[in-house]
Amino acid sequence: MSGMDKGTLGVLGNVTVQDRLFRYLGSQRIHPALIFSGPRSDSKLAIVKNAAKTLFCRLSGPNQAFCGTCSACDRIEREIFPDVWVWRELDEEIIKIESIREICTRMALSPVEGSCRVCIIDDCHRMNPAAANAFLKTLEEPNQSHYFWLLTSQLGSLLPTLRSRCLEFSFQPDIRRVVPDRAAEFDGLYQDFLRSGDPYRVTHKLREKSDVLAFVHYLQARVRQEAVNDSSWYQIHEFERLMELEHRLRSNASYGLLLESHLAAIR
Ligand SMILES: [Zn+2]
Repeated sequence: MSGMDKGTLGVLGNVTVQDRLFRYLGSQRIHPALIFSGPRSDSKLAIVKNAAKTLFCRLSGPNQAFCGTCSACDRIEREIFPDVWVWRELDEEIIKIESIREICTRMALSPVEGSCRVCIIDDCHRMNPAAANAFLKTLEEPNQSHYFWLLTSQLGSLLPTLRSRCLEFSFQPDIRRVVPDRAAEFDGLYQDFLRSGDPYRVTHKLREKSDVLAFVHYLQARVRQEAVNDSSWYQIHEFERLMELEHRLRSNASYGLLLESHLAAIR
């Protein structure tokens, strides 16, 4: 199966998880809280929004998860549909307890147009402990038609008690999707680094921050692929290190140095 295929939910890559999610939403009572974990990317949110469309679209055809053009689909896409709410903490690094209280108050209201409500919380790992505990309280008395869908790129940072109350869907980076036309270039750079052991041979070829990020996505996809065949503690640890590196790269100007020190520690 190619990583460039579109999945059941109409997004490139992560075909298996799209299929699993679509079948899950259609076949049984939905768990009150789902976690969607995986690399920081737009495709995770796109898949989850499309999953929400399947709950509200009334015009989908027989072999179609949702139509994509009706009023519900259109408004869910534009994030203005009353029963599907995308929460992003825009100004703060952390999601505070006040935000969680606001989310829970709004989620206690009855559905407006459909028979359920969905709240998608982006970067849910940014909840501080007080916020996470307040959120847990809400999950202790779940409403059968109100669903929380939590997106995270840092599954390891979530409270274990929170994870244990959620059903998890994990998204994987895919070399061909993340860096479709640079996989050969990055393969060359990485092999060169393995031969020489010199991180600078990689970083001096990657001038822009976007190049470094693309290379980190490539490394994440490599480790994921290796882990499919031989899942070891090393690969899990290395993947977490790469996620942390990506997080730091995004908020740091010395991206070349960060990548160099990461590569130096691989050896
Ligand atoms: Zn529709």
